[in-house]
Amino acid sequence: MVRSPLTASLFDLSYPQLEARLQRDGVRPIHARALWQALYRDLDCYPRGRADFLPPLQRWLGEGEGKQLPIASVIDRIESGDGWTRKLLFSLADAQQVEAVLMGFPGRFTACLSTQAGCAMGCVFCATGQMGFVRHLRPGEIVAQAVEAQRILASEGDSLRNLVMMGMGEPFHNYEAVMEALRIISDSRGLNVTPSRITVSTVGVVPGIVRFAEERARFNLAVSLHATTDEERSALVPVNQRWPLSELLEACRYYLKVSGQRLFFGWTLIEGRNDSPDQARQIVELIRGMDAHVNLIRLNPTTGFDGVTPGQSAAEAFRQVIQDAGFPCTIRQHRGIDVAAGCGQLKAARVQGGQHAAEIL
Ligand code: SAH
Ligand code: SF4
Repeated sequence: MVRSPLTASLFDLSYPQLEARLQRDGVRPIHARALWQALYRDLDCYPRGRADFLPPLQRWLGEGEGKQLPIASVIDRIESGDGWTRKLLFSLADAQQVEAVLMGFPGRFTACLSTQAGCAMGCVFCATGQMGFVRHLRPGEIVAQAVEAQRILASEGDSLRNLVMMGMGEPFHNYEAVMEALRIISDSRGLNVTPSRITVSTVGVVPGIVRFAEERARFNLAVSLHATTDEERSALVPVNQRWPLSELLEACRYYLKVSGQRLFFGWTLIEGRNDSPDQARQIVELIRGMDAHVNLIRLNPTTGFDGVTPGQSAAEAFRQVIQDAGFPCTIRQHRGIDVAAGCGQLKAARVQGGQHAAEIL
């Protein structure tokens, strides 16, 4: 397994880290401001030759390691027929491929970013899970996806408002890099995405939830639930065997208590498996007393899973039960199915192969 990738880049450095690096190299830290302006406001991937940089910064950029840019190039870009979803496939320095999705309307776009190449968690319905784990992304490789999304939106006179870590990978299996990337992306001196508009989605890595709570990170947390008994959940989400529902829900309660924030639950609806009103009532029982919002996603078909996508009316009936119990509940738009907008599906269509949880955890 490749744990730490090959190429460090300017996108790996938070503002304070960049200041420290400049200082260490005998350059005044004040130059960080011009460099961040170029990287995150002008969205300039080739800052080296900029005439507006003062000579010390130009010299610094020209020497030493860790200043590689660009680090991710878009090799495929697909727009859905409905015009609301765009999918970007990136190639990284070692030719690994990850994807990001841009969804939404002018003025309120959401970018969905990847945190790993592949995923070790092996959820049976997920294209990325079917692919297996390849490697963690560096912070800069996550930041680069956000920069590219912002570049596209800026060219349309728009800007990136919402961010979800719901692309390929399990964010809490790559905790440090994800949090570092989010600190960079939300820094007001850079891309300036408001922390409360950023959501980290986890399959239920309990130590990650506890750590996230204790950091009092201002980002939102979503927990992908999918089932209300250990037997059903383990069949869909194998890591449930490691962190069963009782532990997961305890961690959720701890998060709610420590963070004081609302928690989001994700539920992928699969026809005949977890889409009955009775299942919805069981969710209500599990989360009773929590300040929680439930997000429903109708299954996106994948080649490795024979589950069926429920109709819109089944999803509506499911939502009604949850809403009637007093929990906000939304159905995520089933958009972009024609661009394979399900997690990992574009990449899966092109490449196969990777490791699975049993080999790694
Ligand atoms: N690993 C994290 C985040 C990435 S997956 C997690 O599992 O939460 C983001 C969301 O997409 C999860 O809620 C996941 O259950 C859902 N998802 C994955 N594959 C899907 C599919 N084929 N159809 C519908 N939702 C899917
Ligand atoms: Fe990994 Fe999330 Fe897909 Fe599960 S749903 S395999 S955790 S990316």
